[in-house]
Amino acid sequence: MTQIAFTESEERQELRQAVARLASKYGREWFTEKARSGGKTTDLWLEIGKNGYLGINIPEEYGGGGGGIGDIAAVCEELSAQGCPLLLMVVSPAICGTIISRYGTEQQKQRWLPGICDGTGTMAFAITEPDAGTNTHNITTTARRDTLPNGESEWVLNGRKVYISGVDEADHVLVVARAEALSDDGGRTGQVKPVLFVVPTDAPGFEAQPIPMEIVSPEQQFTVFLDDVRLPADAVVGDEDGGLVQLFAGLNPERIMAASFSTGLARFALDRAASYAKERTVFHAPIGSHQAIAHPLAQSHIEIELARLMTQKAAALYDAGDDLAAGEAANMAKYAAAEAACDAADRAVQTHGGNGITQEYGMAGLLVATRAGRIAPVSREMILNFIAMHSLGLPKSY
Ligand SMILES: Cc1cc2nc3c(=O)[nH]c(=O)nc-3n(C[C@H](O)[C@H](O)[C@H](O)COP(=O)(O)OP(=O)(O)OC[C@H]3O[C@@H](n4cnc5c(N)ncnc54)[C@H](O)[C@@H]3O)c2cc1C
Repeated sequence: MTQIAFTESEERQELRQAVARLASKYGREWFTEKARSGGKTTDLWLEIGKNGYLGINIPEEYGGGGGGIGDIAAVCEELSAQGCPLLLMVVSPAICGTIISRYGTEQQKQRWLPGICDGTGTMAFAITEPDAGTNTHNITTTARRDTLPNGESEWVLNGRKVYISGVDEADHVLVVARAEALSDDGGRTGQVKPVLFVVPTDAPGFEAQPIPMEIVSPEQQFTVFLDDVRLPADAVVGDEDGGLVQLFAGLNPERIMAASFSTGLARFALDRAASYAKERTVFHAPIGSHQAIAHPLAQSHIEIELARLMTQKAAALYDAGDDLAAGEAANMAKYAAAEAACDAADRAVQTHGGNGITQEYGMAGLLVATRAGRIAPVSREMILNFIAMHSLGLPKSY
């Protein structure tokens, strides 16, 4: 069969169908029940792990599927589209899995990646801090070297992180901290650099407090306190001097995954709205026969498909190794997907009338869930800054 450039491969389409079938066994009602009762999505997480979908982007020799970001983004989107969005997919396999696969030592890959793939060793990611916010150059979590009496070296971490997703479900957190750069002869320089550390969530001095959020999701956000957390030398991911490059390696996957998370949620909202509009009759005919209802939903369908197309383009560029072009596309995809999702959720609520605000129909909860996509993992304003600077050549504004 002729492969047209902008269609996904048959294999990818089959992957989508298989994930959708699996997630539909759980469904939205299961997901919201878990969220409201303080339950977790562990069963679904482990089942997608067992089926090889969770680590589909990770090399086969470490328990993964040997696929690309396009594959794991498809998994993420289909879960969302069934009403079961799993934010930790963005974090554990896509950000942490990518960084460790690309830059971890052989020993680190063997140690962390199989658990990330089968879901038994989930890893959260912590960069955001209360005072630094979007300006991650200003993070103040510090990593200090300490030489033990036996001559071995340890790291001591101190600081605070906010909005860290899934700390309660993770065994480890990939933490971005600042360490003093050493000169070639090991002397002090006074300059700091970002370094990535794998921190066990049960380490002494590690504490996490849940942040009450308005999102209806079993996955929670936490404030993390690091108080003299001691780590062995090999807790540093890859090369101590390559922190920034290694961090950047996680950014495009993060954005592509966030876009997929949003387009999936948008598809879910639109699907529910279209079904409702076909059934609900008020004045003699289904409300979907009124253009005031039909046109906004049609508009959402167009916006979602455009965002999906850009997400697939970003993933294809990333998987082809074109990091620069992938960066622009991933930012645009993430922007377009968040906008499409917010509008689709709003229109879905409006289509449902009063039912749109009830817990029974569960539409209003989507307003906050989709709205978070405009803020995290990178805000729409920072994407517009990026596009203004890098695509349009305008001066840096901050
Ligand atoms: C649901 C959720 C999950 C999250 N999970 C994680 C996680 O797992 N790990 C993690 O590390 N972080 C996580 N975050 C944090 C997230 O990445 C940040 O919230 C986000 O980067 C914005 O930072 P901030 O909240 O500090 O906003 P601020 O930096 O305080 O920004 C506030 C507003 O000002 C705007 N602004 C700031 N600077 C500029 C500028 N120069 N130009 C224009 N506008 C500007 C921003 O766009 C934003 O609208 C999560 C957040 C949410 C909501």
